Amino acid sequence: MKYDVVVVGAGPAGSTAAKYLAEHQVSVLLLDKQSFPREKPCGGGLPTRVIERFPYINKFIESISCGSITYSSKLNYKLTIERDRPLLAMVQRKTFDHELVKLAVEKGAVFLENKQVVDLKRETDKITVILQTGEMIDAQIVVGCDGIRSVVAEKAQLSEKPRKTCVCIYQETPLDEKRLDRFFTKKRMVHIFIKTLGIAGYGWVFPKKNTLNIGIGEFEPAVNPSKAKVNIKEVYEQFIILLKEKKIIPEEISTDNCKGGLLPVFPLEKTYADRILVCGDAAGFVNPITGEGIYYAMASGEIAAQVILTALHHTDTSERFLSRYQKLWKREFGKDLALLGRFNNQWGEDTEKIVRLMSKNKTFAKFTVGVTGGQISFSRYKYLIIILYFCVSIKEFFQKKAITPIVPLSNNT
Ligand SMILES: Cc1cc2nc3c(=O)[nH]c(=O)nc-3n(C[C@H](O)[C@H](O)[C@H](O)COP(=O)(O)OP(=O)(O)OC[C@H]3O[C@@H](n4cnc5c(N)ncnc54)[C@H](O)[C@@H]3O)c2cc1C
Repeated sequence: MKYDVVVVGAGPAGSTAAKYLAEHQVSVLLLDKQSFPREKPCGGGLPTRVIERFPYINKFIESISCGSITYSSKLNYKLTIERDRPLLAMVQRKTFDHELVKLAVEKGAVFLENKQVVDLKRETDKITVILQTGEMIDAQIVVGCDGIRSVVAEKAQLSEKPRKTCVCIYQETPLDEKRLDRFFTKKRMVHIFIKTLGIAGYGWVFPKKNTLNIGIGEFEPAVNPSKAKVNIKEVYEQFIILLKEKKIIPEEISTDNCKGGLLPVFPLEKTYADRILVCGDAAGFVNPITGEGIYYAMASGEIAAQVILTALHHTDTSERFLSRYQKLWKREFGKDLALLGRFNNQWGEDTEKIVRLMSKNKTFAKFTVGVTGGQISFSRYKYLIIILYFCVSIKEFFQKKAITPIVPLSNNT
């Protein structure tokens, strides 16, 4: 078998790259080790900018959330945001990823499932992808979109060990639409628990059309090394008890079907090599504050495809030529990821104050939620946020004597 480009991994990064290349008449093979539709550990929450950049995904959106409730670590404060516009779009990864694969195929990509890539061999005039079955496929360029344990990144000597990760436990439970309306209203309010139960991360509750996605994630780089290691599964069980106590979720939700998931936290130093590019989780493109990665997966898949198109046009698949991929992703979202990465350690700090300040100042809340949730660019608004933070802190300092929690957390949310 011989193709111009082999894309390894048919998640959002791989399908987006394959779709773009096929649309531009490049012969492209999309491979995945699993059979589709397949499950993928995920919350399935998309910031609206994913739809703005890739409007064709609109038809795969299952439901829209128009509000959020964020709780401080000690549960003393909460910030409620309700709006008429969407805050988050919700998808089921099983169908979302399958639809993206179908789109790539519709445009002309060849898709082969149950094909696990185990090795790569680079020669002067080609690169060969070696499958577990022993089959070999020749190409001009390989795109590694094979997730956090990327074989492509490893074989190209781009991966870093040990890799900094966020460890998650999550579950997606079917729930009657009317009950979801009752618990989460028609606005499908999402709940975020900052540093819940002492973890260096957060817990989420994402109501969708007729399912409820609940999870927690702890960012390893933010964990205080002197603290005893937490058992994330036990924390998850306590989280479910807490949610029931607060009457946020129905009593019948159990933890029987919870599963584990892993996220990269920081981008790889280098994301290109001779005849190779890596995208999405394989490259470590995830928001290091929220763990959101679908946007970066799709954006990097498209940027990689654009660079490959010019590389094939110039018959130059060298590392030097492909290095422009890194320049382009850095220009689009690299600055934001780097800046957010500097705040990743805050998951290990006391975040009570930030929710308290947000609950006191709508503008500060709007921008902080906007940048952490990936709605707006952090690098663009960083000075405004810093100024707002100091203004609200100073105001609070002078009002300190009169302080009582502005929005005390009641049992009945
Ligand atoms: C618990 C959890 C919750 C999350 N919640 C959100 C969220 O709400 N919103 C959000 O935006 N992001 C979320 N993320 C992150 C998001 O899931 C990822 O960033 C995103 O899936 C990355 O897409 P990708 O295409 O790079 O990789 P993936 O979606 O991981 O796809 C990789 C594909 O490669 C295939 N593959 C792997 N190895 C090989 C091989 N050797 N050969 C062939 N195929 C291979 C796999 O089978 C898989 O299909 C969450 C992640 C986790 C773990």
